[in-house]
Amino acid sequence: MRLILLGPPGAGKGTQAQRLVHRYGIVQLSTGEMLRAAVAAQTPVGLKAKDIMASGALVPDDIVIGIISDRLDQPDAAKGFILDGFPRTVPQAQALDDLLKKKHMRLDAVVELRVNESALLARVETRVAEMTARGEEVRIDDTPEVLSKRLASYRSLTEPLIHYYSERRKLLTVDGMMTIEHVTREINRILTAIGAVDAKSTKKAAGKAVLKLPGKAAKIAKKAAKAPRKAGKPASKGAKKPASKARPAPKAKAGKSPKKSAKKVTKKRAKA
Ligand code: AMP
Repeated sequence: MRLILLGPPGAGKGTQAQRLVHRYGIVQLSTGEMLRAAVAAQTPVGLKAKDIMASGALVPDDIVIGIISDRLDQPDAAKGFILDGFPRTVPQAQALDDLLKKKHMRLDAVVELRVNESALLARVETRVAEMTARGEEVRIDDTPEVLSKRLASYRSLTEPLIHYYSERRKLLTVDGMMTIEHVTREINRILTAIGAVDAKSTKKAAGKAVLKLPGKAAKIAKKAAKAPRKAGKPASKGAKKPASKARPAPKAKAGKSPKKSAKKVTKKRAKA
């Protein structure tokens, strides 16, 4: 399974990525983590990135694209991966398309965690408090001032990716304002519905059956299809409101190949 998690800082991408890693045995590729490691190790990349990251701006595309390209070649990425924090700009997304094509890899879905911006500061404050309590070093970019800069760069540079992937029929939106547990469940449900994970593995890994009956995913997906769809909306409008429902592949059946399911989604969305 190959996924991108999209969302502003504090949306819960890291938390959900870890849960997906645990459940499906795939790797989390977080450019933020990789850059922080490079900064700590004072590598040439780290030295270039350090001040940029501290200010809340984005590191140049060529640096992160290079990092991701190398990382995708590592054997542990062959089983599948979750990109967390990459791509963050349209040129990065285009570069990723090229990279995946060259490496004969196919992206299953882009999961957007949609959150209410006003909740983000509180979430980041909670993260800081939790890290402090665990005795971990707090990120220097987790301050209200830098967070507002990171949010601004998300809005102007990253939000256009919502439209980018929506056009390519890859976007699935989940209401990131729900509890962590609910968000996880919703992500698993829609991944099953589009056929990115088979019902069996979801059932086995989840402990509790997400799909108890064959075809249940289709029913759930049908229900979700009735929900208002915002995928085609311009990013600037759509991204401001939290989505109340996920926007998965409406008619996909569990167990179908991702390719087939993606086609179905395409057809369905084209009709809408
Ligand atoms: P994150 O941990 O994803 O919040 O990233 C922390 C910081 O690392 C960001 O504010 C950027 O400065 C930098 N960074 C991480 N990923 C990228 C990326 N894909 N493109 C540019 N800069 C990035």
